[in-house]
Amino acid sequence: MSEIAKELKYKKLVCRYCDTPLPVPFLELGSMPLANNLPRNEDLKTPEFACPLSLVFCEKCGLVQLSHVVPPELMFSHYLYVSSTTKTFQEHFADYARDVRGRIQSESPLAVDIGSNDGLLLACYQREGMRICGVDPAKNLADEANRKGLTTLNHFFNAASVEQILKDFGPASVVSGNNVFAHIDDIQSVLKNVKRLLTPDGIFVIEFPYLGTMLDEMLFDMIYHEHLSYIGITALKFVAERFGFEIFDIREVASHGGSLRVFMQKKGAARPAAEIVGRYLAQEQKQKHLVFETHQAFAGRVLRVKEEFMTLVRKLKAEGKTLSGYGAPAKASTLCNFYGLTPEHLDYVVDDNPLKQGRFIPGAHIPVVPSAHLAAHPTDYVVIFAWNFAREIIKKIGSLEDRGTRFLVPLFNPAKATPSANPFLIHSEPVRF
Ligand SMILES: [Zn+2]
Repeated sequence: MSEIAKELKYKKLVCRYCDTPLPVPFLELGSMPLANNLPRNEDLKTPEFACPLSLVFCEKCGLVQLSHVVPPELMFSHYLYVSSTTKTFQEHFADYARDVRGRIQSESPLAVDIGSNDGLLLACYQREGMRICGVDPAKNLADEANRKGLTTLNHFFNAASVEQILKDFGPASVVSGNNVFAHIDDIQSVLKNVKRLLTPDGIFVIEFPYLGTMLDEMLFDMIYHEHLSYIGITALKFVAERFGFEIFDIREVASHGGSLRVFMQKKGAARPAAEIVGRYLAQEQKQKHLVFETHQAFAGRVLRVKEEFMTLVRKLKAEGKTLSGYGAPAKASTLCNFYGLTPEHLDYVVDDNPLKQGRFIPGAHIPVVPSAHLAAHPTDYVVIFAWNFAREIIKKIGSLEDRGTRFLVPLFNPAKATPSANPFLIHSEPVRF
């Protein structure tokens, strides 16, 4: 399909929350490949799928969203991201399941997890004494979960899978979706289906990277095709109320660099709204998240960070230094493609997920290798793309500093950084930038 045909076919015309026609983008990162489809050697002969990656802001409800929507079957049918691979996530989900269980009175409640991946959260729910059912469209992940005895439907979450669950298990006391609420285009159907699946006093809990964190901390590497919505509490409240839900609590979680866990219930259910909900709404007003100029200014800072990072990389290469990357999450693809990083800049990218090894960063075509490669062929600089795991990573490879290797993070916040020669440099005691 030509670029123009794709532009027309995948363009989002109206806001996913409020149906208002969408304006032109405030930030354009360029035409990009799919961040989680890492090509193999033999795939490099054929041109990769690519589609514009741009953000638009809806002035009516406050939602920030991608200008183009790539069909989910192109992105999620064989997903290489496996949540169980990191210890941080395991602790995170154990805490999550305890938190959820504590809010439910019922004896043997059913918990349904949307986008349940390989079943990490399902296993934690089970340990808390809950009945479980996962729903995941990626066949390899659903198979893996089922092999472990974690019942998972290999399906998209829709009216058909909801009917199936109601028939097999009955209504759910808990429906959860982690990093899926921001990834689904037709969120209005999701809300209708969740409403059908939930008991009258059930809870719908979602976790997503918070728009306010992206704006405040300059985390524009969270922008990729799978991540369709950039959600603030004001916009979420709008769409929740539209479909008969109310937000009653929020928890701040550190995963993915500042996510929110938001608890909703059917309108009129008994739980009172916690004070934090009002606090978030007031804060978004005060920080002007609902004003176009705020997003425009953010876009200006994004372009500045790119300019400064590539100036640094070009300088290091001119000095004859070698560079590599650490971590091949989706954000690495966004950064490599937006910055224009290629194998000329980075010799390789290390990733501990065996499913990614032997493949390449989409678009940029930098090879992904196991971490043993870094020990055997250390570079002068290591760019930590998985910066949210910087502590774990530097604990593992910090000894390279003794031979002169230096660590870089690929972004910084110009509004907060103190002037320094190299705002991207971090040491073995990393400070959150
Ligand atoms: Zn809207």
